[in-house]
Amino acid sequence: LLELAGVSVRFGERAVVDAVDLEVAEHEIVCVLGPSGSGKSTLLRVVAGLQPVSAGRVLLGGEDQARVPVHRRGVGLMFQDHQLFPHRDVGGNVSFGLRMRGSRRGFASGPGRGTYEARVAELLELVGLPGAQGRPVASLSGGEQQRVALARALAPSPRLLMLDEPLGQLDRGLRERLVVELRGLFSRLGTTVLAVTHDQGEAFALADRVVVMQEGRIAQAGTPLEVWQRPASEFVARFLGFEN
Ligand code: ATP
Ligand code: MG
Repeated sequence: LLELAGVSVRFGERAVVDAVDLEVAEHEIVCVLGPSGSGKSTLLRVVAGLQPVSAGRVLLGGEDQARVPVHRRGVGLMFQDHQLFPHRDVGGNVSFGLRMRGSRRGFASGPGRGTYEARVAELLELVGLPGAQGRPVASLSGGEQQRVALARALAPSPRLLMLDEPLGQLDRGLRERLVVELRGLFSRLGTTVLAVTHDQGEAFALADRVVVMQEGRIAQAGTPLEVWQRPASEFVARFLGFEN
């Protein structure tokens, strides 16, 4: 579904993303791991079309995205600081994601206005917040807000869902529970996911394949088991060790 070929992003002298080759297959969940500043978020922004590349190609569904604007790519991105719209209630936040899809060609075609409510209810059910439509965002816990942000990102049925530290602000116990739920949700929906985290436990629990980044390059890519059992370099071994 997604193919990156020799993608680089330079700021001045520095290559923040450096000749990255990466493929994500349909229905696959890939987690990008790596220390702070290794280029993880930049990589997602490139795929979303929010960050121009200095070199290389981005293909989605076999189609070069060089001239495809953000809203035509059919990708969903949940940002690291996923903030919800505080002045809207839960339903308003989720239906914002839904409204995007009718107007944006890359996404599945939009529902008629009358079906918004039903779809919002369905999405909230999906993320484990049934009936929360009318609640003010401020009344939700951090974990609940993260679920609403996820429902909003899922609303347009993106062909590729990208998550940047989706569980970033949560405590360990909640992260572990949510990660299991997410994994189940994505496999039920058949969602293709490219997620970023600096938490290896999260990556290993969620991913079919993990990609470890080091200073803009891919230090290793493989199944969680492969990476865990046979780290490709001193760096990867140390990175995994430090996180434990
Ligand atoms: P974190 O885990 O902290 O979120 P990350 O791996 O997501 O880190 P990026 O946000 O991709 O890291 O940033 C990689 C590097 O690129 C950082 O050193 C950052 O300061 C630098 N960078 C990102 N955007 C720009 C920019 N517009 N101009 C200059 N440098 C930038
Ligand atoms: Mg980041």
